Amino acid sequence: MRSRAGKPVIVLDGPAGAGKSTVSREVARRLGLPFLDTGAIYRAITLVMLRDGIPPRDVSRLTERLRGFSVSFPGGRVTVCGEDVTDAIRTQEIDSQVSGYSAVPELRRSILDIQRQGASEGLVAEGRDMGTVVFPDADLKIFLTASPEARARRRYNERLERGQTPDYEEILDQVNRRDAIDSNRDVAPLKPAWDAICFDTTGMSFDDVVSGILGYAAGLL
Ligand code: C5P
Repeated sequence: MRSRAGKPVIVLDGPAGAGKSTVSREVARRLGLPFLDTGAIYRAITLVMLRDGIPPRDVSRLTERLRGFSVSFPGGRVTVCGEDVTDAIRTQEIDSQVSGYSAVPELRRSILDIQRQGASEGLVAEGRDMGTVVFPDADLKIFLTASPEARARRRYNERLERGQTPDYEEILDQVNRRDAIDSNRDVAPLKPAWDAICFDTTGMSFDDVVSGILGYAAGLL
């Protein structure tokens, strides 16, 4: 899938805490491509719905509310209707609720266009269904995974760095629960595309993962 600008579309999927965000940001930076964090879109929607008291099962209010929804990524931040929600979407509360919303088929459908918009300039996009649903013709598909403990430890450290006071056992429990819901939902479940290259990052350094992916990307440039 070459974008109109002739630049590649590279996608990374995988479970929570596999290192997708940091790795794909770096891959995008090194290749000079825009970066799209689709988890942030689901998180921002979850924040809005929780604030408005709209539960995932209330599909008609949910779809109505989504009509006025817009999300932007100015300078690596996340804003909803101009409000900076970068920190507000990365809390344990959002972690525990987001999979309930992201399993709603109408919600997933309504943000397909938002996710595909940027691809005309080439893109590195990360999420759960990039290679299977959103960009099935991507030029390079990577599936990153790691042991649940390694993934929970990463999330724990991220939260510490943000000045939060995380609980490791709670994060491990949530990572496992979230992956179970994300993997077993009917629509766009978390799974590698048939043509994805899989990396288990448990024993790998960040630099090794990034250079492994850049090695595959080199053939596209
Ligand atoms: O990647 P991140 O942990 O921020 O994703 C948050 C949640 O958003 C995931 O647990 C999943 O429920 C949902 N998600 C999704 N499809 C994507 C990206 C994220 O369902 N492409």
